[in-house]
Amino acid sequence: MKTQDHISIDGAQGEGGGQVLRSSLALSLVTGRAFEIVNIRAGRKKPGLLRQHLTAVTAAARVGGAEVEGADPRSTSLRFRPGAVGPIDAEFAVGTAGSTTLVLQTVLPALLTASGPSKIRLEGGTHNPFAPPFDFLEKTFLPLIARMGPKVTVALERPGFFPAGGGKFTVTIEPSEALKRIDLLERGGIHQRRAVARVAGGVPRRVAEREVRDIARRLSMKPTDCHIEEVTDSLGPGNIVTIELESDAVTEVFTGFGERGVPAESVAQSAVKRARKYIASDAPVGEYLADQLLLPMAIAGGGSFRTLPPTRHTLTNADVIRAFLDVDIDIRKETRETWRVTIETTGDDR
Ligand code: AMP
Repeated sequence: MKTQDHISIDGAQGEGGGQVLRSSLALSLVTGRAFEIVNIRAGRKKPGLLRQHLTAVTAAARVGGAEVEGADPRSTSLRFRPGAVGPIDAEFAVGTAGSTTLVLQTVLPALLTASGPSKIRLEGGTHNPFAPPFDFLEKTFLPLIARMGPKVTVALERPGFFPAGGGKFTVTIEPSEALKRIDLLERGGIHQRRAVARVAGGVPRRVAEREVRDIARRLSMKPTDCHIEEVTDSLGPGNIVTIELESDAVTEVFTGFGERGVPAESVAQSAVKRARKYIASDAPVGEYLADQLLLPMAIAGGGSFRTLPPTRHTLTNADVIRAFLDVDIDIRKETRETWRVTIETTGDDR
């Protein structure tokens, strides 16, 4: 473990978004090390702490019994000093359509190895652009966490879309003593493909029909693998398409988010474009999953995966992890389409 007990983080570094803050909170809880962050979300149009980030800070403070300074709306700096980390039974409402999955991302790492099980109820957005949709969490990320030891189950009560929010899901976490290393180097064949178009809150069914038709045509998928879901209990309108690709190694989920004024075919195409890029490479780990895997693998003390070219987001996340943990994160180009990420502990604390 790195020894100086206070870490300074520049929120403007690299990609300059909320991930710098969330990863810092998560790592502070895991290591017990205090930190100060300045220039929070300096790279965003509305810098500083928004509701989603404030909820993440509140949740992290609860998990770690932390002392916090600067947790105010639009604040651009924060001090966070964790006490004893423990399991929780709690409810956190973002209060807007802000992403609930990103709140979970902040507290989950520490709870994976906590001294007992946790139960969390989250309220806000569950299917937000620029955040992991609930389906990605359930089908892509959490099965890999299960391979590392802990069992995390999520149950969607009601989806929440921008701008109405009001989505709800519960999370139960059965921790393990430590995280096991995993390596995701070979994808194997993609043996199952599935597309789902969801419409909610009065968005007509024909929008979903056009979306699945477009996906089926572009990816030559069988109609029986394409599904439509009409959500009747959301607080407001919403539309999302997901393309699931299941291989031996992982189930990847690619998403297109519907927006007012954007044709159904364009929503479908944004998901298809991501899915095609993934299929064309032979990497098991997509861009977003690469982002999410760095932290648990670093906490596990090692791991590796092959992925698509790393995003600025992933590189920034790696830098934040290096500030908290003695780990070597090697991100290396292999071919035109694939990169290899290898994480190893360098300290003598494990
Ligand atoms: P930030 O933009 O810094 O607030 O971080 C957004 C987070 O959401 C990152 O961890 C991204 O990897 C993740 N993310 C964004 N879009 C998706 C998506 N379509 N699927 C999965 N994860 C996503």
